[in-house]
Amino acid sequence: MFDYIIVGAGLAGSVMAERIASELDEKVLIIEERNHIAGNCYDERDENGVLVHRYGPHIFHTDHEDVFRYLSRFTEWREYQHRVLGFIDGVKVPLPFNFNSMEKLFPPSLFHRIQEKLLERYAYGSRVPILELSGEDDPDVRFLADYVYRKVFLNYTMKQWGLRPEEIDPAVTERVPVVLSRDDRYFHDKYQAVPREGYTQMIRRMLNHRNIKLLLNTKHSEVLELRDDGFNFMGREFHGRVIFTGKIDELFNYTFGRLPYRSLDLHFDRLDMEWFQEVATVNYPNDYDFTRITEFKHLHPVKADVTVTLREYPCSHDERNDPYYPVFTEESRKMYREYRKIAEEIGDLTLLGRLAEYRYYDMDDVVKRALEVFEGEVR
Ligand code: UDP
Repeated sequence: MFDYIIVGAGLAGSVMAERIASELDEKVLIIEERNHIAGNCYDERDENGVLVHRYGPHIFHTDHEDVFRYLSRFTEWREYQHRVLGFIDGVKVPLPFNFNSMEKLFPPSLFHRIQEKLLERYAYGSRVPILELSGEDDPDVRFLADYVYRKVFLNYTMKQWGLRPEEIDPAVTERVPVVLSRDDRYFHDKYQAVPREGYTQMIRRMLNHRNIKLLLNTKHSEVLELRDDGFNFMGREFHGRVIFTGKIDELFNYTFGRLPYRSLDLHFDRLDMEWFQEVATVNYPNDYDFTRITEFKHLHPVKADVTVTLREYPCSHDERNDPYYPVFTEESRKMYREYRKIAEEIGDLTLLGRLAEYRYYDMDDVVKRALEVFEGEVR
C-alpha cells in the first residue's frame, strides 16, 4: 500500500514526504502521535486572530538560497527581522550584545575605550564568541568579557541548560556572539521572514498531495514493530523504507539509556493591552525563573486590543515535558553513537531531524538536511 512510512509530521518528516510524493511519485504514510501536523513549529490563531506558536517561538532565518526557494513554493512570506532585548541591570539592551548595548550600559569614556580596543583586534562587524572574548588579556577587553559572561550568559545558560557556559558545547553559546557593530538584529542571514499564514499552513500545503496519507493521534509503536533487520507494519512485513524523525532512544526501547534533553514549561498569557513590550522577545538572564518573554503580535501584526505573551521556563525532559534541546556531553554523544550503530544495521531505515539525529538543528538546517538526505539516500 505504501512505499515509505515516515514517523513524525514535523518539518523534517513533512519535507521528506513532499519530496517523495512529488518527485518520486510514490506513496507515503506519515504516522504522527500528536493530533496535529507541523511538530514544534505548530502555530494557530487564537480567538482574537493572534498567531501563537504553541511550542515556543520559531523564527525562520537562512543563508541557504535553495532552502528559501524550496519553502517559497508552499508559502508567501512576511519580511521580519528578529530583534531581542536583554534585561540587564534594569535596562533593556540589544542582544546579541553590541556597541549599542555597551553604550547604554557603560560610562561614555569606558565605552569608547573598549570600542577602540576591540576594533584594534577585530574587524568592524565581527561576531566574537563570548568564550573567545574571555581569553583576551587587555584589562578593558577583559572587563567587557567578564561583564557579558556574567550578565548575559552565565545565569541564562544555568537556567536554560542547568550548566555553566563553559560546560556546554561551545557551538551553543556561539549562536549569540558579541557583535562589533551597531546592528541590533538577532540574526544576520540573507533571508529573514515568517510564513505569511504561519508554519502550520505552509506545512499543510506541503502535505496536501494525493500520494501522502496522514495518520494522526498514533504512536509509531501502535502500528510499527521493529525487527532485527526491518519493520512490521500492522503485523505484516513492511518492504519499503522507514524514515524516522522521532527520538532514536525510544525507537530502540532505551537499550543504551535515555538521551538527555532540555524541555520547556510554557506559560501563555493573554493581556488586555495592545502591546506588552517593544520587540518580539525580551531575555531575562538574571531575573525571574523564566529565560525570555515573547510577544507574538510582533511577528504577525494584527489589529487587536489584546496581546499574547509566552514565558519559557526550562526544565528537563520527562513523560510530561517534550524533548526540545539535545544536551551534548561526552556521555550523551557516546550513547547516541551506540544507537546510531544499531540503526545502521537496519537496512531501510533513515534517521532525520533534531530528535533522530540528536542535533541542535534550526528550521533551515532541518530543511536543508531533509533535501540532502532525499537526494543522497532516498532518491
Ligand atoms: N544565551 C545566553 N543568554 C542570552 C541568549 C542566549 O546565555 O541572552 C545562550 C544560552 O546558552 C542559549 C544559547 O545561548 O541556550 C543559544 O541561544 P538561542 O537564542 O540561539 O537559543 P534558542 O532560541 O534556540 O532557544
